[in-house]
Amino acid sequence: MPGMIPGMPGMIPGMPGMPGMPGMPGMPAMMPGMPGMMPGMMPHAAMQPQAQVRPVPEKPEVLEWPAWLRAGAPCSICGDAGKEGLPHGVICRRRKAKNAVGGCRKGVCWACMGTQPRSSFGMVRTTKEEFESLEDDAWWMHERCMQPSDLRAYFGGEKELADAQAAADAADAAAKESEKPKETEAKKDPIEAEKERVKKMSVKELKAYLDRHNTSHADLFEKPDLVNRALEVCSNSVPEPPPGPAWMTAGDVCRLCGKPQAEDQRGIFCRRRRTDGRIAGCNEAICWRCMKRAPKDSFGKVRCTKEEFEGLGEDAWWMHHHCFEDGDWKDYFGESEPEEDRWLRNPENA
Ligand SMILES: [Zn+2]
Ligand SMILES: [Zn+2]
Ligand SMILES: [Zn+2]
Ligand SMILES: [Zn+2]
Repeated sequence: MPGMIPGMPGMIPGMPGMPGMPGMPGMPAMMPGMPGMMPGMMPHAAMQPQAQVRPVPEKPEVLEWPAWLRAGAPCSICGDAGKEGLPHGVICRRRKAKNAVGGCRKGVCWACMGTQPRSSFGMVRTTKEEFESLEDDAWWMHERCMQPSDLRAYFGGEKELADAQAAADAADAAAKESEKPKETEAKKDPIEAEKERVKKMSVKELKAYLDRHNTSHADLFEKPDLVNRALEVCSNSVPEPPPGPAWMTAGDVCRLCGKPQAEDQRGIFCRRRRTDGRIAGCNEAICWRCMKRAPKDSFGKVRCTKEEFEGLGEDAWWMHHHCFEDGDWKDYFGESEPEEDRWLRNPENA
């Protein structure tokens, strides 16, 4: 679990104020820079090159320490100014020797501190709890605003800095890894997906597939030839819907209200895959809201809820009553179709 690595305070992107972060009770050894190593202390102050100090500071500014981002002062990233009079982030600023001040002096709110990517923001993060716990010695700067000596001081030494960098690298790698499969699946072209399925089909399934697509296979006897013909069909026809329950996914449009859905599983398609692989149903999408409200006259009486559909797992299907064929009522409701319902579904009687 990222964010729980001991000795790595405030370093893990996206984990502000997680339990186990520094500053929490029972974790005394986890503070960055440890109180004894904090800025403003003599040993570190003495390390700063004296030449950089301006001989005559014209007008000494009054800066508040620690450098909380006060309510009313906007975050340099999102522009949010906070509320309720409480500090809502920190300012990139460190008190150095002889009144010199390090850092770019830009404010960062806690939300941005937690969510900004390492590529633009760097790896050095703090949390409200950590910053608070360091009291008067608390400081934070962007990684890019730190000198090597700042980095060492912040993390408490050369070794601690190296550990912090290694932990940030590991968190990056883990984040990349967990994104990978999602991305490739979402981008998978439906025709390619169908070709993958075809390659795994048995001879019987291949023949059924070709039959469904009105393609002859009478001249073929070897499985590889059947696969090749089926692959040709894939390339030249509308792909079949993937197996499994016919959920709508984000972006699919409900046929009744015309609204594109913002998330997956906000509705379903009228579709049933028969045992021979044939697809029944009109394949129109319907959102859960419309499923509940659609008029009985036009929509029919066969309805389903998300809970029901979900509860049926991989076998879930639903169709409009008027899309039922003989036998579907029995499969759907577990009892024979009443004669009047059967009569209703005949288009001539509707
Ligand atoms: Zn912000
Ligand atoms: Zn900065
Ligand atoms: Zn709808
Ligand atoms: Zn239908």
